[in-house]
Amino acid sequence: MPAKSTAKTQVHSSRDPNRIPVTALKGVGPQLAAKLARIDIRTVQDVLFHLPFRYQDRTRVTPIGAARAGDEIVVVGQIEHAGISYGRRRSLLCTISDGSGLLTVRLFHFSSAQQARLKRGLWLRCFGEVRRGPAKLEMVHPEYELSERKPQTAGIEGLTPVYPSTEGVGQGMWRRITTQALQQHLRGVTELLPDRLLKPWRFPSLQAALWHVHRPPADTDVEQLRAVTDPSQQRLALEELLAHHLSLRFARRKRRTHSAPAMREDNGLLQAYWEALPFRPTPDQRRACSQILSDLGEATPMLRLLQGDVGSGKTVVAGAAVVRALENRYQVAVMAPTELLAEQHYRTLSAWLHPLGQNVAWLSGRVVGRERNELLGALQAGDVRLVVGTHALFQRGVEFPRLGLVVVDEQHRFGVDQRLALRDKGSVDMQIPHQLIMTATPIPRTLAMSFYADLDVSSIEHLPPGRKAVETVVVRESRRAEVVARVEAACREGRQAYWVCPIIDESEVLEAQAATDTEAALRASLPGLRIGLVHGRMRPREKEKVMERFRNTGLDLLVATTVIEVGVDVPNASLMVIENAERLGLAQLHQLRGRIGRGSDQACCVLMYRSPLASQARTRLALMRETTDGFEIARKDLELRGPGEVLGRRQTGLMQLMIADLVRDRELLPAVEKIARALIDEYPDQAQALVSRWVAEDPDYASV
Ligand code: ADP
Ligand code: MG
Repeated sequence: MPAKSTAKTQVHSSRDPNRIPVTALKGVGPQLAAKLARIDIRTVQDVLFHLPFRYQDRTRVTPIGAARAGDEIVVVGQIEHAGISYGRRRSLLCTISDGSGLLTVRLFHFSSAQQARLKRGLWLRCFGEVRRGPAKLEMVHPEYELSERKPQTAGIEGLTPVYPSTEGVGQGMWRRITTQALQQHLRGVTELLPDRLLKPWRFPSLQAALWHVHRPPADTDVEQLRAVTDPSQQRLALEELLAHHLSLRFARRKRRTHSAPAMREDNGLLQAYWEALPFRPTPDQRRACSQILSDLGEATPMLRLLQGDVGSGKTVVAGAAVVRALENRYQVAVMAPTELLAEQHYRTLSAWLHPLGQNVAWLSGRVVGRERNELLGALQAGDVRLVVGTHALFQRGVEFPRLGLVVVDEQHRFGVDQRLALRDKGSVDMQIPHQLIMTATPIPRTLAMSFYADLDVSSIEHLPPGRKAVETVVVRESRRAEVVARVEAACREGRQAYWVCPIIDESEVLEAQAATDTEAALRASLPGLRIGLVHGRMRPREKEKVMERFRNTGLDLLVATTVIEVGVDVPNASLMVIENAERLGLAQLHQLRGRIGRGSDQACCVLMYRSPLASQARTRLALMRETTDGFEIARKDLELRGPGEVLGRRQTGLMQLMIADLVRDRELLPAVEKIARALIDEYPDQAQALVSRWVAEDPDYASV
């Protein structure tokens, strides 16, 4: 290991680097320390476990003729021409050649001295990303060195690590401080995994693995390193996954030390709820309900995920939990991520609960002034027991003295911190409320074990009876006229349709504009139809009025943005057209499509795209045509995009993985669970130490 030879000249420290502050490293003063603290780096150990996320290969010179746009490479060439170009932006262009091809070096910022030095005939060694320029390939602001003679090497031995960073800390600084940490403190890093548990893997030791990952020698298999399948990387990935898994288990254990109101009172309200429903619950719904009711009867806080595909009927199950809490005279908060969805829950729950003599209150950011003050007062006094709303529920000033249950829909759209804020609103005698989280993002089992090791899970696997799978067709934008004719024909038969205009841009304004334009165009070509419009820029009341008309069949066609994505429930709507479908991800398409096929008519979804189709987009649309199985779609989505994207960035913020990847390293997961169990039972101190080594400290999270 090359580590040894370099390290020998340095002073070793066998002190635990976890107890040494970063400021012990040369060049790290209070200012830099403050910047590092922003990304949770406080000790030398944190530096050692701050791993590169990619590597540059600066060990080889690539012939210019072999360079491709997008490559990050070293090239060496002789200056053929240098001069200023006055294009759209003034720049200094320097053409270099190595006999195999020509490349332009482009500088936008340069001094006259710099310009004077770049003389024809001199040699340039450049490192940077190759881009397609107006005439030929170019590098913009590469790192470069100028010399009289042709440089014989690329100048750097060993692969160059690139570290994730924070503003104001450059790669050079990262290399300096990691070098110091490795040379002086690596020896102090302790192996926390007992030999016995690691043996089957034949991994390098922890110290060797760390050195290798920070400073891979030139003969490292670059492909393996890039794919993160190098044994050193896998060794660290296993440890990281283990640490996160353990932290979730600890969180769960900690939660169990809190108490929650045991809801055991049964005064017939729940019975009445079931009897008044317009349908009978399915066996899956019943099972989920009994699991939840049994949790609610315990004096430890429930944290349960209710998962079920779009349209599987989660709301009625949540409703039963709500009723049980009301029956026990506790307050309940039901929270949804969008106003439209929250309104939908408000309406549904009101329809089910009003007849049982229960009032439902509404709170969103748009409830202001006297109305808001009155509601807050009534909540504080305990007069209002059930409130449905958006994130406004966890704002300052909203107090629930008897909060017993929090229901959160589509929680991956909320940050965990927000969920916590709501939980902390309720403290009945130091108790914390039960939590029920609903999600339509089905999570493959192995992932669920890792992500939700702290949650109990109830699943609704089968849709209510009588549903027919939505038929999906994929058509090119050029066949728009046919699609319009199809919408007209369907509406003439008394069916209702959605026409969705999704994100053209990240901007709600542009999205609203696109929907407005589309609505105008459709009105012009379909004068016989009653057409409505909803988008995110409308006032909630207007939005709700349009939705109401659509729901009451006062409209044939609803033109909408993706505001209707989650939760909207109009069973008579059986046709949906989605424009620019190629721009949407699988999860979003699946959610949107889930708005139809809720009634007994055969539903149809038309995915309209503009060609040419990129290959990923083609794969997505083909999959949507082939299947309506949310589980299958989620699995594929995970493959295409990775778990961070699928489960939502903020959600996985919990699982900010440095080196591991839940999909790529899924083969490690069974071992992770096994080792975790053994550690907790036999080596509890090591287990704790592992968590503090890898998982960012979040005191609040510890008690979720
Ligand atoms: P999601 O799981 O997507 O939130 P919802 O709770 O909105 O689904 O339910 C979808 C639709 O199915 C609603 O119209 C609801 O009334 C209806 N539904 C739910 N359960 C049943 C059932 N057991 N039988 C018939 N219809 C049901
Ligand atoms: Mg729902």
